[in-house]
Amino acid sequence: MTSPSLSAHAHVSLTMPNAVMGKLCDYFAEFGEVSRTAHSARLAMAFGTLTITAGDNGLDLRAEAHDPTSLSYVKMSVAEHLSTFVVDEKPRLVWTGDGAAGTPLPYFREMRVVSARNVTPRMRRVTLSGPDIGRFETGGLHVRLLIPPKAGQAPSWPVTGEDGRPVWPTGEDRPIIRIYTIRHIDAARGEMDIDIVLHDGDATPGSTWARQAAPGDLVGVMGPGGGDVPVADWYLFAGDETALPAISRILNSLPAGCQATAIVEVEDETEEQPLRSNAKLDIRWIHRKGSPGATRSMMEDAIRQVGVPAGDMRRFIWAGCERETCLCLKKLVRREWQIPTSEHLIAAYWRAGCSGDNLD
Ligand SMILES: Cc1cc2nc3c(=O)[nH]c(=O)nc-3n(C[C@H](O)[C@H](O)[C@H](O)COP(=O)(O)OP(=O)(O)OC[C@H]3O[C@@H](n4cnc5c(N)ncnc54)[C@H](O)[C@@H]3O)c2cc1C
Repeated sequence: MTSPSLSAHAHVSLTMPNAVMGKLCDYFAEFGEVSRTAHSARLAMAFGTLTITAGDNGLDLRAEAHDPTSLSYVKMSVAEHLSTFVVDEKPRLVWTGDGAAGTPLPYFREMRVVSARNVTPRMRRVTLSGPDIGRFETGGLHVRLLIPPKAGQAPSWPVTGEDGRPVWPTGEDRPIIRIYTIRHIDAARGEMDIDIVLHDGDATPGSTWARQAAPGDLVGVMGPGGGDVPVADWYLFAGDETALPAISRILNSLPAGCQATAIVEVEDETEEQPLRSNAKLDIRWIHRKGSPGATRSMMEDAIRQVGVPAGDMRRFIWAGCERETCLCLKKLVRREWQIPTSEHLIAAYWRAGCSGDNLD
């Protein structure tokens, strides 16, 4: 591979630089390769590399990557972990070089609504258009939608901060953030579809935005995130309607020759959507029919009925649903079935009684 073309540097003053370097190395060893000497280290991560030199009064840092987004991810993760590992000193991190403070976030795009229509009574498809959206095609299925807080007013967007993390507009200008899946993307045309559940509730900025979205409305899109689904011979997908866009898109991308079972919980038959795949498909719809969302026993029962094949074939279990359901499914898959983490991904897509910026 060619050497990275982008780089940034920083010096961070610290009273115990070697100890902090050690903590960074220990943490990043889980996610990449760490080579270390007494006073220096090189951390090779998925996005790029970080070279650390420990001096008497602090750390010299050099971040390198092949593209602007990867460079920001390296810088951001250093900032995040420095603030976690060094709580008492509050070290100041100021990057110089590529992607300096005040520049637009490379993983952000301003887009406009082209159209909005219901694909089922409770699922609204919003088509967005914008330039240079090829970056959203790979690297994960979901994005953060930045919803302008005041309709009809020019929105303010986040920019790169001095430590590499985004600096957000404050107060009434701060956009509302909700996570959604790109249901379909056509980068050549500059368009993507986001399918948004119109769920009940009084204060639901994401649902409300989708209900009212009109051609020309501006919205911010940040990402993508979440990674890709690994290659397997046997897949089990489970989720409610919030995960239906992801399940549909993954099924669409599977090759012939593998087998996929999809368990999807929706309100009733009017919420079912056609699911297409080259894989051998077994689709099982669960209807809530008025019982509250997060009917975990229905989904768990359906998953138990499918079961899991012996470990001699490549297996992958994927689930996205309400947080409590998600915890039950994790218990079933991890503790009861003893499926290793490399063979499953179970994520909370929403949390009953909490807004989408508070999933933990
Ligand atoms: C990786 C990921 C991908 C996602 N992809 C999609 C997607 O493609 N389409 C999609 O519609 N959603 C998706 N979601 C879920 C979505 O982000 C949440 O449902 C979000 O909370 C909706 O925001 P809101 O502003 O409408 O409601 P919030 O302000 O977040 O919540 C207000 C109230 O509504 C409740 N609530 C939130 N969602 C639901 C729901 N689905 N059913 C019933 N009550 C609910 C909350 O518990 C809260 O009480 C995804 C989430 C994640 C983490």
